[in-house]
Amino acid sequence: MAILYKSDPVRGAQWAALHRERAPDIDFRVWPDSGDSAGVHYLIAWSIAPDFLAQFPNLEVLFCTGAGVDRLGLANLPPGLPVVRMVEPGIVEGMGEFVTMAALSLHRDAYEYARLQARGEWKVLPVRPASATRVGVLGAGVLGRHVLGRLAAFGFDCAAWSRTRPAIADVAGFAGREELQAFLARTDVLVCLLPLTADTRGILSASLFAALPRGASVVNVGRGDHLVDADLLAALDGGHLAEAVIDVMHEEPLPAGHPFWSHPRVHLTPHIASETQIPTAVDALIANVRAHRDGRPMLGLVDRAKGY
Ligand code: NDP
Repeated sequence: MAILYKSDPVRGAQWAALHRERAPDIDFRVWPDSGDSAGVHYLIAWSIAPDFLAQFPNLEVLFCTGAGVDRLGLANLPPGLPVVRMVEPGIVEGMGEFVTMAALSLHRDAYEYARLQARGEWKVLPVRPASATRVGVLGAGVLGRHVLGRLAAFGFDCAAWSRTRPAIADVAGFAGREELQAFLARTDVLVCLLPLTADTRGILSASLFAALPRGASVVNVGRGDHLVDADLLAALDGGHLAEAVIDVMHEEPLPAGHPFWSHPRVHLTPHIASETQIPTAVDALIANVRAHRDGRPMLGLVDRAKGY
């Protein structure tokens, strides 16, 4: 019984070293050194080609190295194969840091001050309490809930929107498409932390931006395909939106010449809002493999019908 890791080889070596130390009883292999393919019962990957799994006749679980499983191509996988996304403390903490940084930067006008400095202009903007900034998080899952806890601690006026009504202390909960407009109408800083599914693809579009108050900002840390780039640019250039913090793109790396690179109100990072932290992720994987062997539930099991 072996686990096969198929993703970045440098990180794979780190995974292997820690895994061998912490679970020497479980054979851990790093692609392309997969050994006898019949011995591979668990695969952990970020993305796979549609026919990749055919070579592993005894595969029992497909794990994802990340929290979002959209790159695994769920529709092409054998219907009964359990898929497990990454739920581990490191990736959760990292997202809390990044979204807090973005929300505070927007709330305290950091991007505007950077532009003023570049122009050599001394200008004082009003300092408002955090309670005057309404943050709304699309997606109240493992990451969204953690982010909201961090933001609420700063005193931001917080709300969350998800498929089922989120019940989070000190956070207004909105559910489903029928409550999306009301959620957007009370949101100055919109954070996208949705999984990418057929339902959520392209959700950050002109109609959604129009439902936000004038002067609102958008933080996309979900997936690039949540966003309609041209609609965002139009909303920024038309003055309806103030700033956009964009961590994820349709195509990564973002191609040279894409208008985001040079837009003064688009603030880019290269998909680093959070990253799976290997030391804690190894423990999460080992715990899940042991749970599976013992017939106990695995943390992060994806609902194949819902796609997340
Ligand atoms: P979860 O599965 O824990 O949470 C997903 C949330 O989204 C749930 O609250 C769910 O609602 C909600 N949701 C899903 N579909 C819809 C829909 N159609 N309408 C309304 N709400 C919906 O995921 P995580 O919090 O762990 O991760 C979220 C995403 O963050 C990942 O899928 C990935 O895309 C992104 N990510 C980005 C990273 C980066 O570095 N930029 C790093 C890690 C993740 P309900 O609760 O009702 O089911």
